[in-house]
Amino acid sequence: MRIRIDYDRCTGHGRCYTLAPGVFGCDDSGFGQVRSDGEVEPDLVREAKLAEGNCPEQAVIVDE
Ligand code: SF4
Repeated sequence: MRIRIDYDRCTGHGRCYTLAPGVFGCDDSGFGQVRSDGEVEPDLVREAKLAEGNCPEQAVIVDE
């Protein structure tokens, strides 16, 4: 599974890195950043999907 952030939508709410700190960090302005090259390790899939479902802007994009 791969994950990315659509920066045309992201407004920096921070829910992704709050709910899924193993998958996301943030930049100096509070916008989410995917920690890896986009590939989600199996033990982080649950976190990643939680972030996808809770981003207020639907900016977390999962490619199964
Ligand atoms: S939760 Fe969504 S809008 Fe907020 S920082 Fe993460 S990707 Fe951006």
